[in-house]
Amino acid sequence: MDRLHSQKIWEIASALRLTSNGSPADAILAFCEARAAAMLTDFPDCATPSEMLNIMEATLGTTFEVVRSDDELVALQRRYVQAGEWGFAALDKELHGDVYGVTYRRMTARTGERSFVSVIDCRGDKGLRSYFTKWHEIGHLLILTDQQRSTYKRTHAHASSKDPEETLVDLIAGHMGFFPQFLLPEIGTEVTFADVDRIRGKLCPEASLLSSAIAYAKHHGQPCLLIDAKLALKKEEEAGLLQGSFGFYDPPVPKLRVQSVVQSNNAQQYGLYIPKNYRVPESSVIHLVHNGQQDPATASECLSLWESSDGNCLGPKAIQIEVRKSFDSVLALISLPRGFRNRA
Ligand SMILES: [Zn+2]
Repeated sequence: MDRLHSQKIWEIASALRLTSNGSPADAILAFCEARAAAMLTDFPDCATPSEMLNIMEATLGTTFEVVRSDDELVALQRRYVQAGEWGFAALDKELHGDVYGVTYRRMTARTGERSFVSVIDCRGDKGLRSYFTKWHEIGHLLILTDQQRSTYKRTHAHASSKDPEETLVDLIAGHMGFFPQFLLPEIGTEVTFADVDRIRGKLCPEASLLSSAIAYAKHHGQPCLLIDAKLALKKEEEAGLLQGSFGFYDPPVPKLRVQSVVQSNNAQQYGLYIPKNYRVPESSVIHLVHNGQQDPATASECLSLWESSDGNCLGPKAIQIEVRKSFDSVLALISLPRGFRNRA
């Protein structure tokens, strides 16, 4: 989160002439919400973030070009280069590693044509993020000032993943892709993956299960957590491996650990809290799903099963847990059993 308080973010907020007593990132999110509200006044029938995405694509003047294979990428490059968009010659090199999309300003756009093209890389596993990538590129365009719009060349410099602006634009994408105005009325009183599926199907079928579940847990009115667990080493173990301080015969074994936690606003107030990097208890149903013995699974468990490596355990608290496998990680939705929810 430190990146969201860096000078670059203050500069973006200042270029947009935003003022705020809070964080510049919050001010920029509020600015994006206000822009969305203004655009939606022309489209009163818009009822889903997917529809809003199309409206913003048109209003902000870009065209999504989705690429699903290397052949499609080559064909797209050829088409645009032949039309005079020479920047596309380097497109394949731009979409390296964890770069999922690029937005170019068109050099040959005629009056009335859209000024930008946003290439969405959906080759292989990158396709899982297509919805998020589209919103990410829209996020870049949303925070351009009018002056920047006319001089802007393209998103993504090399090695941009540590760029605070990328972190900010990811935040905008996560927020706009599950715009609260559309999401909140859909969230029911139970905390279930079935509810996540239903909402995803209705509002944004292109979104991934993970990004939908994150937005769902974050905005849920009931206290809940979403955990993403994967096989991983402890931080000290990883550092030890890098320094070569382990003997040849006793390298550390990766264990199932919490990689990220998303909590509802009121989770902590109800005593629902699991720290990042904690090991998943072997007796938890999360292990059964990880091992492939069950998928999906639900269980009633106690939070006191969870303990840190120095032996501290979390306090006793009855929890309801629902688990699903999602590629190389295991997702768990954790909530309080019915009847415990109103006791803070
Ligand atoms: Zn970007």
